[in-house]
Amino acid sequence: LQLRLPLRGTNDELDFLSKTLNSMFDRIELAYGRVMQFTADASHELRTPVAVIRANAEYLLMEKPDEERTARGIADILKESEFMTRLVGDLLTLARADRDQLSLEKELFEMEEAFGEIVARSEILAALQEIRIVYQPARRVVAISGYRNDFQRLAVIFIDNAIRYSPRNSQITVATWSTADECGFTVSDHGIGISPDDQDKIFERFYRVDQARTQRDAGTGLGLAIAKEILASHMGRVAVESEVGRGSLFTVSLPRADRDIPQSADKMRPQ
Ligand code: ADP
Repeated sequence: LQLRLPLRGTNDELDFLSKTLNSMFDRIELAYGRVMQFTADASHELRTPVAVIRANAEYLLMEKPDEERTARGIADILKESEFMTRLVGDLLTLARADRDQLSLEKELFEMEEAFGEIVARSEILAALQEIRIVYQPARRVVAISGYRNDFQRLAVIFIDNAIRYSPRNSQITVATWSTADECGFTVSDHGIGISPDDQDKIFERFYRVDQARTQRDAGTGLGLAIAKEILASHMGRVAVESEVGRGSLFTVSLPRADRDIPQSADKMRPQ
């Protein structure tokens, strides 16, 4: 799309119209470029698992592999299919976010309750890796106006990452907090950490630090990009502090929808 209208430098209505149209063309071009890039990235990400599945299936079909090799081949196929399922799920979430349709209607919910549910679920996952989650809930009950599901997804993304990038027998600390206007949660781990250079990039779609790429339970590289979209739709933000080899601390902040009203969400009504 190389269409631009020439400016005559006369500063009249016609010139103004041309400028407006040109800036519209700029935006269309940018959006189009993003879509193309995203499609290219997504195809690239799908290529490896498809290749692994194909190679294994061909081998199992052609050769007469021993029992152990057969089991390994099938396990590989399963692992890659699971990865593809995750990837497709994440891609669909992002596609919905791009259309600004992450969820339909905003609701008022208690942050603590929604977050606590996710922590309880994550404890089981963490225990499988011998990781302990220490939970420090805020004393105050605070409310958020937003999408409860998306908020929970946000919590899952940060907690799952903390688990995934931590060694066995380590500890993850999660906490909720609130101030007069804001509330949110922190997730801190003693995992592999993230270098200052990478800290800006990890929120980009498909970006993975090299070390993470070789991880056994590979992620899709889309978790934090989804987190960023969810935060944008809630006017929230995230800060990261991290040191390679020591661990990471993610702090998520969202605007509060209430002001110190000590009651439960079912009694609250949106204004
Ligand atoms: P992935 O599915 O690869 O985890 P994310 O978008 O969730 O994708 O994260 C992007 C990258 O950021 C990860 O691949 C990893 O390199 C890095 N990362 C995210 N969270 C952590 C963490 N808690 N500790 C260390 N590295 C992390």
